[in-house]
Amino acid sequence: MKPLPFPLALHIGTDIVHIPRIARLINRPGNYLTRFTRRILCAQEQHEFTTRFTLPPSYTSESLPSQPQRQTPTITPDMIRWLAGRFAAKEAARKATPTAGGAGSIGWKDVMVRAEQEDSERMSVKNGKSSRPEIVFLDVGGMEDRVDLTPAMPFSHHSHSGQFCPGHAQNSTEEMIQTAIAQKMHTFCLTEHMPRGKEDFYPEEIEAGNTESWHASNEAAYWTEAVRLRTKYASQIQIIIGFECDWIRPSSEDLISRSLSKFPFEFFVGSVHHTHTVPIDYDRPMYEQARQRAGGTDERLFEDYFDAQFDMLRKLRPLVVGHFDLIRLKSDDMERSFMSFPGVWTRILRNLDFIAEYGGLIELNSAAIRKGMSEPYPKAEICKEFVARGGRFCLSDDSHGIDQVGLNFHRVLDFLDKAGISSLHYLTLAEPSATATVDARFPRTQTASVSIDELKDMAFWKST
Ligand SMILES: [Zn+2]
Ligand SMILES: [Zn+2]
Repeated sequence: MKPLPFPLALHIGTDIVHIPRIARLINRPGNYLTRFTRRILCAQEQHEFTTRFTLPPSYTSESLPSQPQRQTPTITPDMIRWLAGRFAAKEAARKATPTAGGAGSIGWKDVMVRAEQEDSERMSVKNGKSSRPEIVFLDVGGMEDRVDLTPAMPFSHHSHSGQFCPGHAQNSTEEMIQTAIAQKMHTFCLTEHMPRGKEDFYPEEIEAGNTESWHASNEAAYWTEAVRLRTKYASQIQIIIGFECDWIRPSSEDLISRSLSKFPFEFFVGSVHHTHTVPIDYDRPMYEQARQRAGGTDERLFEDYFDAQFDMLRKLRPLVVGHFDLIRLKSDDMERSFMSFPGVWTRILRNLDFIAEYGGLIELNSAAIRKGMSEPYPKAEICKEFVARGGRFCLSDDSHGIDQVGLNFHRVLDFLDKAGISSLHYLTLAEPSATATVDARFPRTQTASVSIDELKDMAFWKST
């Protein structure tokens, strides 16, 4: 090992943020204390820990997790404070390294916390005094101590597969589900696109010779396969079967009604991909064509997009609202604040009011990050307004292949704080209920919520 000191000493104020979180984690049944120390502390720190708190040397041995009931030590406030101090220092070091958060991110055991005079009280900043602990990087190239820090976010509400969305997505639906299981998701929603009329086929569909009857039989095959897979994997993951709608022209409403009457779908994602019947997220030439029809500027097109969305919201009241601000994807500046267009901002607020009122969930859609944007859909400025209205959010990867399942969820996790979001909601299936239903069209579909703190813990425990 080649220890490399961290370029600066750390002052750690851990009391407020970390102590409750660490206390909650290590007090869980199943000897989470051992799991935590083995996950977080390097060999020297584990030794220090067992010595300091007079635990048997075998405490951190490999055999323990298989016998979780044995000798669970009493967890003391001192112990929690000591561990929280180390956790905070390591987290700070990981965030401060250039690779932090990326695929080459350093592991918890790649850094060691060294405090000159070990005193748990002085690990935190109290009375303006601190022990100035130091971080030491240990042989950062070592692979065996590496921990996969990709968060295990527990759900996604929006996905496509190459099996039923050929030309646009990849992999079979079964492979998508297996990937979600491998990522320890507990709920994964299948939402293939609904059938469209032939006047609205995409270029690759025209090229492939698709027909409206192909669309219809594709939907039937999707339903059958989704039900089969749901049963097959029932013990491992909750699969919810829905579709993603289009809102293109008046006949869209009939097509959606037809899908809903043909199959007992459990929800649908309410999305707008067209303005003035032209796709706005397909490519730049089509975007420009839509913009021309709207009057030639992004501002005018954005206004029309949010008007089309309002129309969709009022007619459909979707349980999940898809990629709320998709319109920015092909625009001149996809990072631009919507507030700089007053007419657009007013429409956004109106739509948020409406969604909050009927109780729709707005998805935080990580695909925006995959497409080069700094924030998911919708932008933080929109999320804050929805939070202020008591609005509820769910989470989606909008995956179009196994490599996109759960992709960039860790970035969304970071984003939640910035957007002021303290809990996420998700869909769940229950016995049909006449009283507790959230949407009369979907008698089995319920919503549940999880706090962001709980989510962070889940992310943390992914690879245990
Ligand atoms: Zn979409
Ligand atoms: Zn989609």
